[in-house]
Amino acid sequence: MDSNAPLETLQLQFAQLRAAYERDRMPTASARRASLTQLERLLRENQAALAKAISADFSHRPIQETTMLELFPAISTIKDARSHVGSWMRSKRRWASLWFLPARTELRPQPLGVVGIIVPWNYPILLAIAPLAAALAAGNRVLVKMSEFTPQTGALFASLVAKYFAPDQVAVVNGGVETAQAFSALPFDHLLFTGSTAVGRQVMRAAAENLTPVTLELGGKSPAIVGPECRIEEAAEKIMFGKCLNAGQTCIAPDYVLVPNGRELDFIAAARRTVDTLYPEISDNIDYTAIVNARHLQRLQGYLLDAQNHGAALYPLTDDIRAPRNSQKMLPVAVLGAAPGARVLEDEIFGPILPVIGYSNLDAAIAYVNARPRPLALYYFGNYGDHTEQVLNQTVAGGVTINETLLHISQEHLPFGGVGPSGMGAYHGKVGFDTFSKLKPIFRQSMLNGVFLLKPPYGRRFANMIKMMLR
Ligand code: NAD
Repeated sequence: MDSNAPLETLQLQFAQLRAAYERDRMPTASARRASLTQLERLLRENQAALAKAISADFSHRPIQETTMLELFPAISTIKDARSHVGSWMRSKRRWASLWFLPARTELRPQPLGVVGIIVPWNYPILLAIAPLAAALAAGNRVLVKMSEFTPQTGALFASLVAKYFAPDQVAVVNGGVETAQAFSALPFDHLLFTGSTAVGRQVMRAAAENLTPVTLELGGKSPAIVGPECRIEEAAEKIMFGKCLNAGQTCIAPDYVLVPNGRELDFIAAARRTVDTLYPEISDNIDYTAIVNARHLQRLQGYLLDAQNHGAALYPLTDDIRAPRNSQKMLPVAVLGAAPGARVLEDEIFGPILPVIGYSNLDAAIAYVNARPRPLALYYFGNYGDHTEQVLNQTVAGGVTINETLLHISQEHLPFGGVGPSGMGAYHGKVGFDTFSKLKPIFRQSMLNGVFLLKPPYGRRFANMIKMMLR
């Protein structure tokens, strides 16, 4: 168990965090703001090193992509939490139910205790920091488990957290599946897991042993629907931008696209023009990210072979057909005409492969989406309001962006999370704070109250009272 942290270390880290929570169960607003400031300092003072480590783990990822997709949203989240934590943590007055007046009621957010966060490899910093910021704002102690697929980032992040935080406030664990399994078996007060649906099931099973509540941020196939009246060129531009960032290794990347029958080749041609504009000479373009490791590259190449075996035609989405010098890069490709059962139509792709699927009318496109597991994200392109409403009302997805891709995730005032197989629970902004808090309902009885009217012995007084209450 070389790459795995020894079990005793894990238990020791957990025990330290638990003891610190017991010593201070309700950190003040200023203490929480200080923690968030410290987290922001960690990021700002080490952004170049973090971007370099991520690039090394991926064998190449442009610094600009890491800055835009990880550091910027992470810092925004921290700043948002810091400016609102004072009001989020305040006890809120609620109306007491009529019969119990003049009693008073309130809802008081309280730290849960020790929170666990399990991080995937695709955006290792953002997906550690965003839940961490929410958990710290809510006054918790936090243990973070990084992915074994980003070892350099994981090691750097662990050493930075150890430098900027006391080990009894935030600690980081690195290691493989064994560590991950031991981690998810710890008796956390809340566990937030970001990763695949298959592993999410195992995490929930392990958490159930301790009745640890979970937030599961999972994946799946997020569809993009190009509406019947939509300008294909415009939709293709936006879909390819969302698909090519991080070489498609984004949980909410458009996985496949539904286009009106007969427009498939127009869409593919427009998508190719977009890729060539965004990434000229893409095979060696430094703005384009590599696939994280050889195993995932093989998985993606396997999809293409399998699609061809299912009768599909492959269309390179670039005019640059040179083999990339970095052998871990994979160029974007469209898949057309794959027969049902092709893996590319079943599995989450998580790479630069785009199945293009024709539909006869909008009802059929909606039926295609609804016949599959509920997606994490859904994209609709079109300017006809009735069509947009039809798609919004007739489909269920974790989140939706209209006439663009990805951007609903960047909204601090919108919760982020999947539904069914794409996830459970949500975070971001105030919702994230609430996720990591116990929202404790409190009823304060007043000196003057009518409870005596309901007490035994149940005579006429009680009967009259109940009659009145049930009216
Ligand atoms: P993964 O499920 O393989 O691994 C995620 C984490 O779980 C890693 O830290 C890993 O060490 C740990 N893990 C592995 N086996 C475990 C076990 N048995 N018990 C507990 N933990 C275990 O996912 P991945 O390949 O790192 O990430 C890609 C997946 O994550 C995709 O499905 C993607 O859609 C999803 N994702 C979702 C979001 C979101 O916000 N919803 C964001 C990013 C990625």
